[in-house]
Amino acid sequence: MSDFDAIVIGAGNAGLTAAATLQRGGKRTLLVERHNVPGGCATSFRRGRFEFEVALHQLSGIGTEEQKRITLRGLFGKLGITDKLEFVEEHDLYRSVVPGVLDVTLPADWDGAVDALEAAFPGNRVRVQKFFDLVKQTTYWQMAAMRGTPAEQVDAVVFRQGLRPTQDVLDEHFDDQRIKLVLGSYWSYLGQPPSVLRFQDMAMLLFAYLEFKPWHLRGGSQAMSTAILDSFLEAGGQVRFNTAVTRILTRNGAVCGVRLDDGEEVSAGAVVSNASTPLTYGMLDPDVVPHSVRRDIGSRRIGISAFVLHMGLDATPAELGFNASTSFVFADMDDDRTFQAMRTLDPVRGICVSSYDIEPIGFAPTGASHVSLMTLQYADAWDKVAPEDYARTKFAYAETLIDLLEKMTPGVRDAIEEVDVATPLTMMRYLGHPGGAIYGFDQDATESWQFRNSEREPGVTGLYLAGSWAGYGGFQPTLEAGARVARRILRFTAA
Ligand SMILES: Cc1cc2nc3c(=O)[nH]c(=O)nc-3n(C[C@H](O)[C@H](O)[C@H](O)COP(=O)(O)OP(=O)(O)OC[C@H]3O[C@@H](n4cnc5c(N)ncnc54)[C@H](O)[C@@H]3O)c2cc1C
Repeated sequence: MSDFDAIVIGAGNAGLTAAATLQRGGKRTLLVERHNVPGGCATSFRRGRFEFEVALHQLSGIGTEEQKRITLRGLFGKLGITDKLEFVEEHDLYRSVVPGVLDVTLPADWDGAVDALEAAFPGNRVRVQKFFDLVKQTTYWQMAAMRGTPAEQVDAVVFRQGLRPTQDVLDEHFDDQRIKLVLGSYWSYLGQPPSVLRFQDMAMLLFAYLEFKPWHLRGGSQAMSTAILDSFLEAGGQVRFNTAVTRILTRNGAVCGVRLDDGEEVSAGAVVSNASTPLTYGMLDPDVVPHSVRRDIGSRRIGISAFVLHMGLDATPAELGFNASTSFVFADMDDDRTFQAMRTLDPVRGICVSSYDIEPIGFAPTGASHVSLMTLQYADAWDKVAPEDYARTKFAYAETLIDLLEKMTPGVRDAIEEVDVATPLTMMRYLGHPGGAIYGFDQDATESWQFRNSEREPGVTGLYLAGSWAGYGGFQPTLEAGARVARRILRFTAA
């Protein structure tokens, strides 16, 4: 008999929901995490009198109680953790700012967003409505296709519009560059500029937040990670922290267990990997990895990481001039140039500003606030920095984020009480992912569901992949992916 029915490598979002779903479904499961806390990206840490959120800016897919059949509320219900989570709704979608050019805040509802855009750019109401209709149609039919509706029954809107660059679709709907920039601002989350980003991805994101609203959690993403871990442990699951899997073991071509970094071998018939795809296959005997899988991995590009400046400020959001939980500030209207700068250490050209105390999540003491500034960035630029220059370089680069922020909310620099800076190298160290990638492989058109499905086709018997490297990155997709993969194991290995 095996030591366990299943072993899950990594306690990121997908690893946690996979482990909890498996254990609650009756599979004896071991969860192995190299870090000392659960969550992967979904964690927080303390500095002085502040707690800092590592990753979560806006949680999609929570929706209302009535929508729970199709949202994350349903998953949390199945894991028995709904009562442990306090959802905090953000009422604005985002504020979009190009200093001296535009400053528009969109409320998080379809009609409110139309009104706000019409007020800022009169004469565009009908165009915005038409654009939002296309967003809804494309998302609806994309979801249907992804859930198995036969291609011939899927509306052609997905095939006609889905893979087009977002910029083309925006150009077709609008003449005013400013409205295009506002509606395209979420590209800063997805890591590809509108000239490259698939419209279906932008549509899905806009739909997720406008239909189901942006949310946060009291206690941050760590509260969610801890609650899922508790659900797993209460069901009898076992976890090892500060432990890395170094080898995935096979017998007769099928997975039969793992080797841990202290040399111990643990057996199981199923191994779910939440680690990166290159690392996962690198831990297998090369002879069992099909040539097609190796060729496939070789054809993909390591995705984008992030640079984050966490700040504890000795003033309230109102005192500082923050009026939206999420703001995107761009140096100018040139998204392609902003994206190119993410490959360099040149002064930042676009930041996402999260003010966690507009709708407080409980991380800052009364009278103070927690704000994070993030830009997506590739790790390559940091690989070239000599170790002795690293600290100086990261603080110099962080200053450029504050410079850009000061153009929206002057005076913030003077209110800084605590700071902590994370570079792509920090992400690499904490997550163990190549390039410190936070969404797995580069999310360009070749990664879309129309062309590949790594989650369903891992190529080695007994191996399962769950998380950003095997599908879409982001909180909602990875939380759902872990549970989905676990359900597949439960279905196909039922006693
Ligand atoms: C700064 C930042 C901001 C972000 N903002 C948002 C946002 O606002 N909204 C959103 O939806 N998404 C956001 N994301 C992205 C999102 O957090 C990630 O895509 C998602 O959390 C990835 O989840 P995952 O399940 O793939 O696991 P990961 O979080 O990647 O975790 C993988 C886990 O596996 C562990 N591991 C790796 N190798 C081994 C091994 N050999 N043995 C044991 N354990 C191992 C790692 O330690 C880690 O805990 C952000 C991410 C970051 C970093």
